Amino acid sequence: MPKYIFVTGGVVSGLGKGIAAASIAALLEARGLKVTLMKFDPYINVDPGTMSPFQHGEVYVTDDGAETDLDLGHYERYSKASYSKANNWTSGRIYLSVIEKERRGDYLGKTIQVIPHITNEIKDAIKAVSAKSSSESYDVVIVEIGGTVGDIESLPFLEAIRQMNNEVGRHNAVFVHLTLVPYLAASGELKTKPTQHSVKELLGIGIQPDILLCRCERELPVDMKAKIALFCNVQQDAVITAQDVKSVYEVPLVFNRQGLDQQLVDLLRLPLGDTDLRQWSGLVNRIHGLREAVTIGIIGKYVELEDSYKSLNEALIHGGFANNVKVNFRWIESDDLMTNERWEDRLRDLDAILVPGGFGKRGISGMLRAIGYARREKKPFFGICLGMQCAAIEYARNVCGLDDADSTEFDPDTTNPVIFKLRDLVSVEEMGGTMRLGAYDCNLREGSLAESIYRSSQISERHRHRYEFNPAYEDRLAENGLIFAGKSPDGKFVEMIELEDHPWFLGCQFHPELKSKPLAPHPLFASFIKAAYNHRLRDEVGEEQPKAETVGAD
Ligand code: GLN
Repeated sequence: MPKYIFVTGGVVSGLGKGIAAASIAALLEARGLKVTLMKFDPYINVDPGTMSPFQHGEVYVTDDGAETDLDLGHYERYSKASYSKANNWTSGRIYLSVIEKERRGDYLGKTIQVIPHITNEIKDAIKAVSAKSSSESYDVVIVEIGGTVGDIESLPFLEAIRQMNNEVGRHNAVFVHLTLVPYLAASGELKTKPTQHSVKELLGIGIQPDILLCRCERELPVDMKAKIALFCNVQQDAVITAQDVKSVYEVPLVFNRQGLDQQLVDLLRLPLGDTDLRQWSGLVNRIHGLREAVTIGIIGKYVELEDSYKSLNEALIHGGFANNVKVNFRWIESDDLMTNERWEDRLRDLDAILVPGGFGKRGISGMLRAIGYARREKKPFFGICLGMQCAAIEYARNVCGLDDADSTEFDPDTTNPVIFKLRDLVSVEEMGGTMRLGAYDCNLREGSLAESIYRSSQISERHRHRYEFNPAYEDRLAENGLIFAGKSPDGKFVEMIELEDHPWFLGCQFHPELKSKPLAPHPLFASFIKAAYNHRLRDEVGEEQPKAETVGAD
């Protein structure tokens, strides 16, 4: 039977519970334990697939095509396990499943109630992820409860983990609670009262936390830890400072230095053993040692909210780790490129340009403008999903003379639908909903840039799109120099495009950012950042050249 770690959060949202849970997983894995994570989201939506990125941040997609909370992205980045639909449940999905059972008559006419029916469903979902395979179970299952203790919505989940703790018995489950210890600059004091209140709230529903992670801008002094321990009824060692750090990848080390993993191992009677954190400390040293930087321009629509491109953000940073450079971001609202006459000035000093995924017509012209600029100026360009579709449209319009080339997503009546719903023609039913979701194989063309980057001719990447490249236009674009570098094994779907006469111009229909990890940067991002760096060096040398010519002319 696995051991359980239940992670809750108090005081305010946004304290980094997902990163805390993922860091605990990294620490336990570094001790050789087999760990998995799961998240419960208290909102009523059945999945985050249709939620606005403004409100909810990125929709993270797993191999099996589940549209999940962005915390699953943190889980994958920090741990080795791979996740699926079973690892993310919303209240909506729990209720839906109970209601479906009720409709089928599974409950034999009983009155359906939050306790025990909803709570049983929650416990069943927890038990279901405990098996690693049919013969092997995980050593530890970390269960994160979304939201903040005190929210009405999270009550059934808290009740379920309370029951579960009782069922599995002593030394088989622990409660970790993340709270905030604010620093009041005016009086120069750290305040423990919000933490006390939050723990009181938990106690009220029958949960005594074992470990408190106190988010704080500075290290908690010993007397503060003692005070929190006294008021919250935990051991003093169990009060851990979750201090603000420069990089989120330092968190496992911060926790380890304060003995968090040792305490978990003790409390859960897990096998002792050394923690091998060499990879993580190597990474953190590298992060602190980054001297040079590249600036990447991201031309998109939701750019004001960083969380809507969380994985992309991280994957670019990982690409920087692979090249020992820091990645600076310039988020550019694509519409601004259309309203500003001097739009080229906004792109000129970028080392590379990226157009990420997105939906809908708004902002497309600005993206096309930026892509055309990158193509002509030979600036490294990376187009992801919508970005690849726009790159194909830009090429069709401005190189192949198809002036009205478009996607049927933006203009359903276009006479040149370079991007359209291919799946309307090739049996879409078998694919479930209307989106092409999850992992699909892709064959890479021999001699392509993509093949040299992946060092492989077959890859698998994750998808989330409705539209795709229209094969009727393949010959026309290919004759004009566009390379179709990646295709689905049946040859029907275009997965990657690139340009011949360009240092680094690549578009992919999938989302490679979902599979990048800090300890294993994704090859496309590593290569893109390298190209950006080379471009910067070339630009710097380039600036010298005119001077040399002038001297020669004299
Ligand atoms: N809107 C495009 C489509 O549905 C691209 C989707 C995306 O970028 N994730 O195909």
